[in-house]
Amino acid sequence: MGAVQSRDGSLPSRKKVLAVVMLGAPGSGKGTQAHQISRRFVIPEISTGEMLREAVKKHTKLGKQAQQMMESGQLVTDGLVCGIVQDRLAEPDCSRGFILDGFPRTLEQARFLGDLLKRKGWGRERVLNLRVDQESLIRRLTGRRMCPVCGAIYNIYLAPPKQPGFCDRECAALIQRNDDTEQVIRRRMMDYERQTRPLIEFYRSKGQLYDVDGNMDPAGVTESIFSVLSAA
Ligand code: AMP
Repeated sequence: MGAVQSRDGSLPSRKKVLAVVMLGAPGSGKGTQAHQISRRFVIPEISTGEMLREAVKKHTKLGKQAQQMMESGQLVTDGLVCGIVQDRLAEPDCSRGFILDGFPRTLEQARFLGDLLKRKGWGRERVLNLRVDQESLIRRLTGRRMCPVCGAIYNIYLAPPKQPGFCDRECAALIQRNDDTEQVIRRRMMDYERQTRPLIEFYRSKGQLYDVDGNMDPAGVTESIFSVLSAA
């Protein structure tokens, strides 16, 4: 018997795929939450920034094309990024679902993703918008300190070391990353806002955007994300 077609002529989706897009400013806890989703639903986290950095490190053709744009802080072209996402989503570990971090970044990429999922019969992506107050973000990021020996991360406000300024394990003096200063952070936030606003409007108008209050403690945020993703 042939496949049953729906009234609009498209094939009904063959399986349920959990397609998740994470939106959230630097310091919003996006990476931490993506990791929790990945563990709970056993689906891979896909970061386009990480894939591109890997390609640059390995000097692949893609890496050579992307390197200059990345180093000058610009976005890599839509064609290039859409290509790597399409290839990655074709891998077997994505067949039950995936979490995208850092993609889409433009409307063109968002439309590409929607069309790709439709062609695959994978349903629509759910977009989580992790919202955190600007002043909390500044505290999270300006308070961040790292141990230069073991890489442990502290936060002088939220997770301070036992002895101020020194690593609990290595006793080494903690350092602050160059890009964790308030001025740089405010700039990164403005860039993020400008870049993401059109995407938020796009997904909201299509009923695919889920606002998540990221001001709670990490476990509370995870819980509210799980309830969004488990519904329907
Ligand atoms: P990220 O780690 O997500 O901040 O990405 C690091 C860099 O990779 C960005 O500054 C861009 O140059 C590039 N990149 C990552 N994702 C994208 C994307 N979706 N579109 C365009 N460029 C991207």
